[in-house]
Amino acid sequence: MLTSDRIVTTTCPYCGVGCQIDLHIKDEMIYRVNGRFDNHVNYGNLCVKGRFGYDYVHAPDRLQSPLMRADRHSDLTPTTWDDALDTVAQRLRHVRDTYGPDSIAILTSAKCTNEENYLLQKLMRAVIGSNNVDHCARL
Ligand code: SF4
Repeated sequence: MLTSDRIVTTTCPYCGVGCQIDLHIKDEMIYRVNGRFDNHVNYGNLCVKGRFGYDYVHAPDRLQSPLMRADRHSDLTPTTWDDALDTVAQRLRHVRDTYGPDSIAILTSAKCTNEENYLLQKLMRAVIGSNNVDHCARL
């Protein structure tokens, strides 16, 4: 039987229920997932995605860095987070200044934590200046 090098407590990334999980890690690989019993969200239970859906973490074709096109006709090439975020910020500023704040909208995700969703709506309202915020869970 495998013995874990460490156990990482975290939140299942798949949906807005937010089940609490323990990731059992050996040689930097997740080999087992347990639902935690000490919380009021899932009481140790997990659905099939939360229990078995972690092969993507170690997938060889998983993206390791942002991809960007020099122009709309060029191929995607890897870039740094600093360059990618600077580019997105410049382009959002250009669109906002040219067409107005309500020309931009954001669709957030149930895969984000509450804190991430809070930050995204704050970005839209305080930085972009628009209330165009929606969420996939509203479907
Ligand atoms: S274990 Fe299932 S129900 Fe719980 S957060 Fe993950 S996907 Fe949602």
